Formats: sequence, structure tokens, C-alpha cells
Amino acid sequence: MENVIFLDNASTTKPFEEVNKIVDKYSENFYNPSALYDAAVSVRKDIENARKNLCKLIGGEEGTIYFTGSATEANNMALSSFNSHAGELVVSEIEHPSVFNKAKALENAGVKVKYICVSQKGVKPEDIAKFISKETAFVSIMHVSNETGIINDIKSITTQIKKINPKVIVHADGVQAFGKIPVDVMDLGVDMYTISAHKIHGVKGIGALWVKNKVKLSPIIYGGGQENGFRSGTENVAAIMSFEYAAKKILKEQQQNAEIVSKQKQAILDSLNSHNIKYVVNGENCSPYILSISVDGLRGEVLVHSLEQSKIYVSTGSACSSKKPDNRTLTALGRTLSEIKGSVRISFSAYENVNIHQAAEKISQEIEKLLIKIKG
Ligand code: PLP
Repeated sequence: MENVIFLDNASTTKPFEEVNKIVDKYSENFYNPSALYDAAVSVRKDIENARKNLCKLIGGEEGTIYFTGSATEANNMALSSFNSHAGELVVSEIEHPSVFNKAKALENAGVKVKYICVSQKGVKPEDIAKFISKETAFVSIMHVSNETGIINDIKSITTQIKKINPKVIVHADGVQAFGKIPVDVMDLGVDMYTISAHKIHGVKGIGALWVKNKVKLSPIIYGGGQENGFRSGTENVAAIMSFEYAAKKILKEQQQNAEIVSKQKQAILDSLNSHNIKYVVNGENCSPYILSISVDGLRGEVLVHSLEQSKIYVSTGSACSSKKPDNRTLTALGRTLSEIKGSVRISFSAYENVNIHQAAEKISQEIEKLLIKIKG
């Protein structure tokens, strides 16, 4: 990892050192939390404390956290609780594939699904009335887009939804929001909220779904009855415990982190401007952690590989869609095919020790070089 300039933090983040120590600690303290002897009971207590603390950290004491193997699974769990007899499902057209493809699968199974359109500012609360009716049963809208960083105004959106139909269950995918922008699930008014550890310097393989009290879930994995019977399987104790640590640390430092990443983002924009590079930023009102730009005529993929030569890691879009030629999110934002092909996502972390000015200069130089090559 020496000299690597990692600017792909929306895809994953490097675990905190202490996170690795906690993983080691619980690998040694390996008892099954469902066992009856004291050593195992103590592990169970640790998990339940972590659950409570995570609930508190997202402002969700009037609900509970269910641990899952990923945020992908947590999103699937949320949508699996949707009862197709209850009415229609509504999702935005820029959801992460773990929501979007699940919605498509439900649609193929006969569920009526509506796809909310977005603007550069995300889902407009004033558009909600066009999609929500007395027939709506479940809505899933992401808090922050993983591809552009667009922040959806979940509080206003939820208020609009519940005004039209108070029975609607509202889920928000908060994977790119939690630990980065303020999150208080009760204030947002949602019924379910998804978070993930590896986007906040925890380890991979652990996600969570927060569910408000009295909201009905359906089991997604049957077995020994762990996670209240909704997601059986022996708990990933080490990952859960380190998730709690990462969440506590990142929330304590959230404000100063936001200032650091805002400066990093601005440094990239300043450099592009000083090189007179013609680009458009994808999205308005975005998270300071994500910068998505399109440069007409550029091939984002070629830029990613040329920067890789200098050990600068960026992305063309989300890690999940980078192998697919189309881009649902940028298409929804009205970008042309050429702009989509010329898109790059640069995503930041306050904990990556990067020389951002040097990186910004290199990125601008590479873009210039590639544009000259293409034109020449
Ligand atoms: N939702 C969003 C917005 C994401 O960015 C991601 C990961 O990129 C996921 C869900 C899936 O998270 P996980 O990798 O934990 O399955």
C-alpha cells in the first residue's frame, strides 16, 4: 500500500488499526454467542451492547438493529419485508443494485413497481405526489448516491409520503450517508435504514438494517433463530464489534472529517479549472465525500488505468457497475453516452494520508494528455 493514493473510498475504506485489533481479539475470544457457559454469555452481552450502541448512534432507540452479512443483504431484507398483497412498491431510478435489482425481481414476480425519476438534485420532494397514492405500500429511496454523492432530502420526502399515505413503510439506504453526513433515523422519519461497516473503515462482510419498533419484518434466512429469527446464522462477532468501534470513532470525528474531505474535493476542482479542462459535475447538493465528473470525449476507464500507473486509484462509477458499459444513474441524470463514457468518480476519506494537491495535478495532467491523444 506504500505510496498509494487511494481516492476510491466510496467503494470501500481501509479498516482502522483498532478495528483489526478488535477482530483479532474476538477471533481469540471465539465463543459462540448462543452457547450457555459464561465465556459465551459474555460475548452475547458484547453483541447486544454493540447493537444498542449502534441504534443510539443513528438516533434509532425506538427500533432495533439486525446484523447482516452486507448492506446488500440488509437492503434485500428490507425489500423482502414488503408484502405484495399490501400494494405497490416505489423505488428511485438511481438506487444501488441491491435495491433496484430486488425491485426488478419483485416486478417480474407480478408486483406493481413505480420508479421515481430524479433531477441533478436527486428525488424532488414535490414530485412525490406523482408516485405515491393510497395504493403504495413500500418506498425505498437512498440517502446518498454512491455514484454521484447526491444527497436526497429524506426528511422532506418521508414527510410528503406519510402525508399522502401514513401506512407506507419507508426504507432508506444510508450506506454512503452514515458516518459522513448527519443521520438521525427518527428525525428522518424512516421505518428502516441500511448501513455498512466497510464504508466507514470497518471490515467487509457486515451490514445492518435498522427497523423501527412495530414494523413487520420477514425472515430472510431460516435456521437457529439468530437476529430474532429474521436472519439465522451464527453472528459474525468480530465484525460486529469492530463495526461498533468504527461507527463510534467516525461519528465523533464527523465534522472535522467533512471539513478535510471538502478541501480535498475542492483541490481536485481547482486543479481541473486551472488546467481549463471542460467538465460537468454530476449532481448538485452532493456529499463532500464523492465527486463525479464527466469529461466529454474522455474514456473514464482509460483514465482509471493510466492513473493506476501512478498508484492513484479512482473509479469510473460504483464498483458494482464499473464492469457494465451503461450507467443507470448518469442516464437518469440526463447525461449523454459520451459524457457517461467520460465519467470518473473520485471519493475521499479524511483518514487517507494523501497529498491531494499532487494527486489533483496528476489527475488533471492525465486528463489533458488523454484528451490530446484522442483529438490527435
Ligand atoms: N448501498 C450503497 C449506496 C452502496 O454504496 C453499497 C456499496 O457500494 C451498498 C449498498 C452495498 O454494500 P455492501 O458492499 O456492504 O454490500
